Amino acid sequence: MPTTSIPTPPIGRFAPSPTGELHLGSLTTALASYCHIKSLGGKWLLRIEDTDTERCDRQFTEQILIDLEVLGLHWDDDVVYQSERIDIYNEYLASTLRPLTYGCQCSRKDLEQYWAQQDQIPAHTDTATQLTVLPNRKRYPRRCVTKALDRLRHKLRIQLPDYLIGFHDGIQGQQWGNPQQTLGDMVVRRQDGMINYILAASLDDGLQGVTHIMRGLDILPMTTAQISIMQAARLPAIDRWYHLPLICSPNGQKLSKQNLAQPIDTRDPSQLIATALQLLQQPSVEIDTPARMLKQATAQWDNAPLQGQQQLSLVNK
Ligand code: GLU
Repeated sequence: MPTTSIPTPPIGRFAPSPTGELHLGSLTTALASYCHIKSLGGKWLLRIEDTDTERCDRQFTEQILIDLEVLGLHWDDDVVYQSERIDIYNEYLASTLRPLTYGCQCSRKDLEQYWAQQDQIPAHTDTATQLTVLPNRKRYPRRCVTKALDRLRHKLRIQLPDYLIGFHDGIQGQQWGNPQQTLGDMVVRRQDGMINYILAASLDDGLQGVTHIMRGLDILPMTTAQISIMQAARLPAIDRWYHLPLICSPNGQKLSKQNLAQPIDTRDPSQLIATALQLLQQPSVEIDTPARMLKQATAQWDNAPLQGQQQLSLVNK
């Protein structure tokens, strides 16, 4: 059959975890991914990553949606809630990903003991890859991989490949990582059934047809794991990756919910957009309605000032 080539628009997404309100760090991720994908004529999807029922809160989700609306960051298509897609993730675990996943009964305490012993062993060079292997990296030692434990009564881990995977990052440059050496076999489903971030995000990015991922640099260490999970699940690869520098407070601390970054105050959305654009080192935009500011910011969007940067600071802003 002849293949038809109907050009599909690039697809980007913003995927907040509603464990807190948006702060300046998450706002800059939202704004950058929005302006960037819109500058390419693409669609911007919103996915709420709320599989962690202990840490996520419906109130935070609602506030995130309100804040994005007030800022004029209107998403395309319906919002996707990962908490409503648990059956899809479990179906993948029971089918395509079954051969790569295994039940694990090691408790946190067992593993802490194991790692404490490993700390005594000095770093060594891996003969195959010539990379330095640090024994105190908290990698799972694959104790349960051959045990064939009941998959429904134990947490599930995924076997990640032990070879280098490379990808080009449009902001950070060429990247290489060996997911087994850096992350080990990650837990993808907890014993209580909770689906972990890496599995849900990898499957959804593929299933939603995302082509461009722009997100915070803190997630970059997981990208090679995501690439291998998407490949194992036979989902289309992401075309372009971009990991944004992290926003830091003047004392160099990353703004995150963990260190209680202030929620954004959307009473003056135009000023907030101007501040975020300045942090992102974009050409300045006249203060106007959020919609007009975003239009201008999109028209002049440029990744170049962000190239190779790992931190953006609030100092002098
Ligand atoms: N849900 C993640 C967060 O809020 C972002 C994940 C991603 O963009 O892949 O940090």
